[in-house]
Amino acid sequence: MSAGVDGGPAIVLDKVNKWYGSLHVLRDVCLTVAAQERVVVCGPSGSGKSTMIRCINRLETHQEGRIIVDGTELTDDLHALDTIRREVGMVFQSFNLFPHLTILENCTLAPMRVRKMPRREAEALAMGYLERVRIPEQAGKYPGQLSGGQQQRVAIARALCMKPRIMLFDEPTSALDPEMIKEVLDTIIGLADDGMTMVCVTHEMGFARQVAHRVVFMDRGEVVESGTPGEVFEAPKTERLRGFLGQVL
Ligand code: ADP
Ligand code: MG
Repeated sequence: MSAGVDGGPAIVLDKVNKWYGSLHVLRDVCLTVAAQERVVVCGPSGSGKSTMIRCINRLETHQEGRIIVDGTELTDDLHALDTIRREVGMVFQSFNLFPHLTILENCTLAPMRVRKMPRREAEALAMGYLERVRIPEQAGKYPGQLSGGQQQRVAIARALCMKPRIMLFDEPTSALDPEMIKEVLDTIIGLADDGMTMVCVTHEMGFARQVAHRVVFMDRGEVVESGTPGEVFEAPKTERLRGFLGQVL
């Protein structure tokens, strides 16, 4: 397993607490993700999975505890924010592509604006990733002309264009029709084969078994159990996890 900065873990959450008003949504969450580790997060709706992922990317702020990404602690410091945005790629349930930009423009926007990459270079990079997700022929189209599965693959390519060290996925297939789920999961599996560090919220348990080094089960803002897919799926320790698995498996 290759090391993160200073050989340290890619992501550390240490007793993270977050409230929305009086609603306590993350409760003493502790999670360490090693460089090149692949973690699948599952749990009932409303258990805080998205909030945790969004805190790692600083789309949300936590109130207590520490979050350290590739050696940088997340604070209000602009340098920290900048580092995180460069190191961490994120793919959401809804693809969030810019509808008025072509597929290629969606992919080159951030490298050109944030990384100050010349257009030619950004386009070559983007075409490389569009080939990776097997839709280079769609480069000149607009998002509305693509299927949901294709749009999600563009969203993945777009995130990769920033050359992130870590990828976060928040239910990347739950807005897709069943026949498109596999093409998106296969794309993510391809990244896994490259050794990308990833945290993926999903209820696709077959996918979890195939790619996850570790499965984390959250319920009501807490990390309730964590272990290998075998441990979590075949030998759940808590009633809460048994109940959840009974519903999704
Ligand atoms: P999950 O992703 O596991 O379904 P979320 O992290 O989205 O859970 O939500 C955790 C809890 O926080 C839920 O009770 C949800 O209603 C609440 N919540 C999420 N986002 C907000 C927000 N922006 N403002 C207020 N409450 C929120
Ligand atoms: Mg969610």
